[in-house]
Amino acid sequence: MSLPAQGGSLLRRAVGSVRIARAMLAARRFAAADGAAIRCVQERRIAGIVRHAFDSVPYYRDLARRLGCAPEDLRTAADLARLPLIGRRQLQEEPERFLSEACPRGMRLEIRSGGSSGAPRGVWHDAPSVLDDAGHGERHWAILRHLAANDRFRAMTIGSPRNSESDVRGFVRQHAIVPPSVSRSGSACDMTVSPEDVARAVAAARPDVLLGYGSYLERVAQILDERYGREASPKVFAYGGDGMSPSGRARVVERLGAAVWTSYQAVESLKIGYECACAAGLHVHADLCVVRVVDAEGRDVGPGGRGEVVISNLVNRATVLLNYRLGDEVVVPATPCGCGTPLPLIGFPEGRVEDWFALPTGERVHTQRLRALFTDEREVWQYQLVQERPSSLRVALVVAERADRPALAGRVGRAIAGVVGPGVALSIDFVRELERTPTGKVRTVVRRSDTAQPATPVA
Ligand SMILES: [Zn+2]
Repeated sequence: MSLPAQGGSLLRRAVGSVRIARAMLAARRFAAADGAAIRCVQERRIAGIVRHAFDSVPYYRDLARRLGCAPEDLRTAADLARLPLIGRRQLQEEPERFLSEACPRGMRLEIRSGGSSGAPRGVWHDAPSVLDDAGHGERHWAILRHLAANDRFRAMTIGSPRNSESDVRGFVRQHAIVPPSVSRSGSACDMTVSPEDVARAVAAARPDVLLGYGSYLERVAQILDERYGREASPKVFAYGGDGMSPSGRARVVERLGAAVWTSYQAVESLKIGYECACAAGLHVHADLCVVRVVDAEGRDVGPGGRGEVVISNLVNRATVLLNYRLGDEVVVPATPCGCGTPLPLIGFPEGRVEDWFALPTGERVHTQRLRALFTDEREVWQYQLVQERPSSLRVALVVAERADRPALAGRVGRAIAGVVGPGVALSIDFVRELERTPTGKVRTVVRRSDTAQPATPVA
């Protein structure tokens, strides 16, 4: 379906609404189909996106020429693995190489992330794919309706000060008359509000579903448990963005008698997976993306193995990413999920549990408030926040060659000081590589008590 390029018209929004409704219907039908039907839809979408990439995306056009490869050579999910793996740094350095020349400027949305992985980046999404993605929210809402035991549940959202979801919601409203089942967000709070005040608001408003970052909800659950009791608790704690610890999940279930639910998304592919009522892992939206799990050499990992998530977005015709390393680690479940959904299953992303910063005043600041400050820093490839003591914070930055370092340091320093306050001494260092843990991982937030190799200073 093609959409007219003029913004805001009623006709365009009506066409957008039809698109969302069709996506909702398809999402429902697809999740109830058998494995063969799912493969058939997926392969049709793979053929479409590969042809589009080879025709109009500079990176893939050059690649096809170099490899002597035709669109017909890549038909299945397994065939996509024959393309070279793309890393985040390639996307950060040359975002336009992955952008289709056939996607009109006025019909795309740039979604940026400060990066749960400490690597800020931006991805353009075309309007039809954003509307399709919104329609696939139906799968999430169906599970939430079930867990809340209420078809008309009331939700409260605790948003990040800057997050891609609100950009997506605004874009969807601009391009469609949004049905209530997609637009439902209920009341809202912000992560700049203390968890104590959020818990008080939750206890007063009694929403059925509380949505937010996992680590933030974990803290709110703790306060609800200690001060207000289980009768004040929402029925469902629904999180994305970062994770909840196993003990945090157990507290919600056992102490508050509520359910925990999570979904998995990234700026590169919007909706990727969601938890079903069995809590066995995440079902992949296989009609929106192909997910592989690979080892350090890029080989597929078998059931029970652990590896990195590699994604191919099948619907976005603006920034096209096929065989792209997302950086998250998961375990591939050894057994299929008991819910009967034929959608593939992966484990919960690991290492996404955030840390809170304790300030000298005793106040605690969620790291997402600091991550959000990097969202629009286009010359920062990677950052790391090292808390030496409550009164000192070191920011290590890996930046583009062309970056104006004094200006960047001033900007980042002022932004961070605005969140942590004048009582925290800041130092900003430009480095070639970030500190790694003994197992070689880069953690975005490091406490000095953590064991780590020192960063390599820029010579
Ligand atoms: Zn399931």
